[in-house]
Amino acid sequence: MDFDISSLPSPCYIVDERLLTRNLEILHSVQQRTECNILLALKGFSMYSVFPLVGRYLKGVTASSLFEARLGYEEMGKEVHIYAPAYIEGEFDQILGNCDHITFNSFDQWHRFKDKVNSVKTKKISCGIRINPEYSEIETPIYNPCYQNSRLGVTLANFRPEELQGIEGLHFHTMCEQNSDTLERTIKVVDQKFGNYIKTMKWLNLGGGHHITRPDYDIETLVRSITFLQDKYGVDIYLEPGEAVALNTGFLIARVLDIVDNDMKIAILDTSAACHMPDVLEMPYRPNIVDAGNPGEYPYTYRLGGLTCLAGDIIGDYSFKQPLKPGDPLVFCDMAHYTMVKNNMFNGVNLPSIASYNREEGIKIIRQFSYDDFKTRLS
Ligand SMILES: *Cc1c(COP(=O)(O)O)cnc(C)c1O
Repeated sequence: MDFDISSLPSPCYIVDERLLTRNLEILHSVQQRTECNILLALKGFSMYSVFPLVGRYLKGVTASSLFEARLGYEEMGKEVHIYAPAYIEGEFDQILGNCDHITFNSFDQWHRFKDKVNSVKTKKISCGIRINPEYSEIETPIYNPCYQNSRLGVTLANFRPEELQGIEGLHFHTMCEQNSDTLERTIKVVDQKFGNYIKTMKWLNLGGGHHITRPDYDIETLVRSITFLQDKYGVDIYLEPGEAVALNTGFLIARVLDIVDNDMKIAILDTSAACHMPDVLEMPYRPNIVDAGNPGEYPYTYRLGGLTCLAGDIIGDYSFKQPLKPGDPLVFCDMAHYTMVKNNMFNGVNLPSIASYNREEGIKIIRQFSYDDFKTRLS
């Protein structure tokens, strides 16, 4: 990190727009080489202060709910796609107002809402069906949309070709943090099972989970896969990564509050795994920290714990070159995606502030939270 973080409030997420721009350039190069369309999946990253930057490169957003769709429509104003396992009747008119592509999770949902879709005269709304190709290489069931008895998408056995009138697209989402070899194998299955139906479509959405901006990602295979589908079926291709847009672009700055001892040194921080980086517990995974190593790698090893009273609010064990003391800052890496969108105020713990950095303006503190943010979600 080449800028001074000492003026930042703590804890604080900070997104480096230079790193975000680098990701967007990689994604844009895929769009340019293949004429595919890449959307930001808001579920993973909804920091709307950078939507104007994102919108310079990507075609728009994809939403999982009315609120995300509205945020994308109001703050980026490009294409707004939506997919949800089911839509709420009372929200659907507003969804129509904010979206241009709507993907349904079942034929029954499509029939329930198609008259409403067709009644919109002011713009064209393109509808799709999510399919479940029953092929996924994700090993963690909670993240595998093709796990047995999955509710996500229509399987081939349940597909109703006779009810496709008015449907212009198919959508599948079966990947998570994966490389393009997984996509290539997935496309083989989708092609085999659903090829006859893709032929009749205008677009095919390959979902998210493409780790395109990771250093070892094989872009050539991605380009080849997209071109294969375009050539074979003449469809527009959409990709909707969340994580890949914001991968390695942000940090969470936190500070040590206290050191306690119980057969090992434990540092208690002004942040929390449970509140501010919930995927550390849910995935689970161990985030990297600048200038820290694995336990024992450097002379001073600590367990890092959060400030909630949850016993399991532990970020992990790390070692440092110097002993930690109260007030010391810690910089957690890769904290832009699936953090701000997932955090919570469990235990009444305040949310981290949100900041950004760019070359022209330096550090900007965009948002700080307060007691009102806590109170207004309760009654
Ligand atoms: C989660 C999700 C995405 C984004 O996934 P990433 O892993 O963040 O790329 C895209 N589309 C759908 C339907 C999703 O559920």
